[in-house]
Amino acid sequence: MHIPGHLGGYLPPFFRSKMRGTSLIPSHTWVEGPLLHWLLTGDEAAAESLAKTRGWLLQARFFDAYDFTNAREAGWHLIHLCALAWLDDPAALNAASILVARVLERQAPGGGWVRMLTDSHCGCGYPRCCGEAGFMVGVLLSGLMRYYRHTSDPAVADAIVDGARWLIVNTYDQASGYFRYTSCKNRTLGGKFQCTQWVLEGLAAAWTISGDAEIGGYLQRGLNVIGRFPVGIGHSGMGKAMAQQMRYVPSILASLLPPP
Ligand SMILES: [Zn+2]
Repeated sequence: MHIPGHLGGYLPPFFRSKMRGTSLIPSHTWVEGPLLHWLLTGDEAAAESLAKTRGWLLQARFFDAYDFTNAREAGWHLIHLCALAWLDDPAALNAASILVARVLERQAPGGGWVRMLTDSHCGCGYPRCCGEAGFMVGVLLSGLMRYYRHTSDPAVADAIVDGARWLIVNTYDQASGYFRYTSCKNRTLGGKFQCTQWVLEGLAAAWTISGDAEIGGYLQRGLNVIGRFPVGIGHSGMGKAMAQQMRYVPSILASLLPPP
């Protein structure tokens, strides 16, 4: 996880004792890319790394009583497990089903996964408001769609469509025509094209499942952000910006193209 001094060891002793050191969370651990790399090359180093990552993702401490702190953690964990399940991995798919059961349980009647927002996602002061960051819901919808492709579970289909509707109601900014960063209107004052990029895959999933005209309209209007590159980011944001485009565009194409 990207915290100061996360590699540890090189800071003076006093500061080292104040640092958490390396920590791992599902949302900062990736599987799909290394898996594709391994499938294309047979690279044994990639296979070994994947096997270790798989072991970490399947730890009993996650699944004895599964829960999640925000939609992003559940979403990425689910994306990884569903990728492992491409390889006919019943343990990964079973873990995914435990995770999804809790995700469905915690979906609010309005379709969102609301919680008390962190300070960085809410500008209301105390008490902070309830809601969720749009991109986190976007990640979860991407994960749920991958799970749906494995299982065709109708309850998951409903959760995806309801989640997309929550995004539209709570994070779309009419003035700019883009989605906002979080549901808190005191934190994100307008929409940004990047925020639309972050939820586009989720909208495409909901539209693929439902054919809903309203969701389709937001998806259609969102397509013009594909390929737009953030201006003025330093080198540290470059890799993420490129990877974002490379991640969501292929799955959206699969949703939008008519069947052959
Ligand atoms: Zn707020």
